[in-house]
Amino acid sequence: MEKVMLRNLEQLDIEQFQRNLITWFEVEQRDLPWRKDKNPYKVWVSETMLQQTRVDTVIPYFNRFIDQYPTIRDLSEADEEKVLKLWEGLGYYSRVRNLHAAVKEVNEKYGGKVPNSLDEISSLKGVGPYTAGAILSIAYGLPEPAVDGNVMRVISRILSIWDDIAKPATRKIFEKAIREMISQENPSFFNQALMELGAIVCTPTSPSCLLCPVREHCMAFHEGTTQDLPVKTKNKKQKNVHLAAVVLVNQEGQYLIHKRAENGLLANLWEFPNTEINLKQVGEKNQLCRYIKNEYGADIELTEMVGQIEHVFSHLKWFIHVYKGIIQNQVLEKPDLRLVNRTEMEQFAFPVSHQKMIKMIEQGTSS
Ligand code: SF4
Repeated sequence: MEKVMLRNLEQLDIEQFQRNLITWFEVEQRDLPWRKDKNPYKVWVSETMLQQTRVDTVIPYFNRFIDQYPTIRDLSEADEEKVLKLWEGLGYYSRVRNLHAAVKEVNEKYGGKVPNSLDEISSLKGVGPYTAGAILSIAYGLPEPAVDGNVMRVISRILSIWDDIAKPATRKIFEKAIREMISQENPSFFNQALMELGAIVCTPTSPSCLLCPVREHCMAFHEGTTQDLPVKTKNKKQKNVHLAAVVLVNQEGQYLIHKRAENGLLANLWEFPNTEINLKQVGEKNQLCRYIKNEYGADIELTEMVGQIEHVFSHLKWFIHVYKGIIQNQVLEKPDLRLVNRTEMEQFAFPVSHQKMIKMIEQGTSS
């Protein structure tokens, strides 16, 4: 409840809190490649990559991405296929498609300079309140909140806020709290320090309160409720989807790959032919062969099942049986259906589950 938050905020020595937090950050901050300068484009790329992904995973992706596309202009002129390839394995691919579209808009409409007003930056594709706040505060030094799950966890503990952070409306309460608390002199370090604290000290299950620079300000610590906060209701149950996929090779040793639709899950990524299996019907192999004949006009022989893969998304779980197979006739290539040799395949971006399939075939292992 907002009233509770405001009342608890009154008890906070805001200036002392800011000093403790920022001083700690100045000394303890991790040396991360996107912290080397305050370039808004680099902040934007890093914050986009960091959504739903761990810092350790992001570092090599960020370095490769910036090496390849060092400026807004470079990225805006890039081929989407190549951009997706650089993102391959990071997941949540709509993030990079939106980033690419938004960067093109910045290049055309703002002369390649990321806008520094909340209205303009928020109108860019894929730029939500968190990313907008992060860019405005870190790159432009503006006192805008940047509230993500980490920050909500930290602030819910410090101010003893018991609203459910899984509900989208709750974010507003935290943004309001940060607007009251943020350092006007150094909003960049204030926001980054909160993110850093959430990442390395005030962690979800076992916060290191004894090492915490703002422990004396933390209501949850004093009240012994650090394990109960934040309140977060569980996601709805994931839907289970059963699939059969096949890595198909023709007489020339070429692989058949297919491009997914331009909207929806894993849009525009490439994959090996696969279909959802109806468990109520018998004959998984028959279902797969029939599907491939109908969709691609290919007569195939499935030689063996090489393993199975489980892949978890936020809302569904894939259980994939993976087969090896041979194409027995000529298949007509189309823009979204290609026959490629193993080297050429490296040019195409595949989701992680399909990268695993090719490894499985080559190593003869199952995951
Ligand atoms: Fe988090 Fe503990 Fe610090 Fe409170 S004292 S902010 S719970 S690490």
